[in-house]
Amino acid sequence: MKTSEIFRNRTALSFEIFPPKPTSDEKVIYKTLDGLTGLKPDFISVTYGAGGGKNCEKTIQIAADVKNIYGIESVAHLPGINITEEEAVDILEKIKASGIKNILALRGDISPDIPPAGRFTHADQLISFIRERYDFNILAACYPEGHPESRNIIDDINNLKRKAESGASQLITQLFLDNDYFYTFRERTALAGINLPIEAGIMPVTNKAQIERMVRLCGVNMPKKFMKMIDRYENNPLALRDAGIAYAIDQIVDLISQGVDGIHLYTMNNPYVARRIYEAVYNLLPA
Ligand code: FAD
Repeated sequence: MKTSEIFRNRTALSFEIFPPKPTSDEKVIYKTLDGLTGLKPDFISVTYGAGGGKNCEKTIQIAADVKNIYGIESVAHLPGINITEEEAVDILEKIKASGIKNILALRGDISPDIPPAGRFTHADQLISFIRERYDFNILAACYPEGHPESRNIIDDINNLKRKAESGASQLITQLFLDNDYFYTFRERTALAGINLPIEAGIMPVTNKAQIERMVRLCGVNMPKKFMKMIDRYENNPLALRDAGIAYAIDQIVDLISQGVDGIHLYTMNNPYVARRIYEAVYNLLPA
């Protein structure tokens, strides 16, 4: 099923997971998926390390298993910056052969040490490439606070419009901790004529190192009440975990009340946290 169809009927709730590191036991991801048993997300997306090469195989295998073994629709992420056209075709053929119907087409982060492998220097180029050759449903990323590289939010929204015009049919935001950024962003996209469903990306913050890394990488702002929470509980991991869950639930309840198209939960492969949030908000989602 193409995940863009979900939004016709209801507010979507999706999860994101990531493949285990090469040094970890491959099976650990299946423990995560087993831990999600009984939950009914509309889809689960599987990230892809932007290093190119064989990174795709784990993503494709896990996304195929989510769909074919766990019976949940899946989305395979695909960053284009480190792959050539030939590699893209090879990967896309594998994704197609696995029965996966949905791809989150990304550029990927640019490493100063690795020049782009080919022509996919922005996500819109990869989106057009896929759209011209395949029948996948294509998702794209967006940034309520602006992408860290963009000169300003107007440029960023114009570039997002290119992704919509190239063939993306739904959007997922980067995490944000202050819903006001999301509401302003949603107005701006509407004014720019971008009429795609936008899922709000919510990351439950359960430890201090995690949020510091995210802020560094993604440039998201931390509201005062969030910082107070971190400061208050940083030396009490269980309390911080519970406070992080409560913060994410609070964000989601507010988003649902403001008519969000969907919630995309960055699970961080933590089924306990995903379950607690799911159970708190599932019945609030308008059918
Ligand atoms: P783009 O859309 O290309 O945007 C990147 C920058 O270029 C922006 O500043 C934009 O304004 C600008 N821009 C866009 N198009 C043009 C154009 N045509 N001309 C000039 N400027 C342009 N990374 C991974 O490696 N693997 C993953 O699995 C992964 N999953 C993600 C999932 C989500 C939901 C999100 C939000 C991000 C994810 N990322 C992932 C991170 C992503 O790869 C980085 O944020 C990356 O820096 C930008 O990717 P993009 O697809 O948004 O790029």
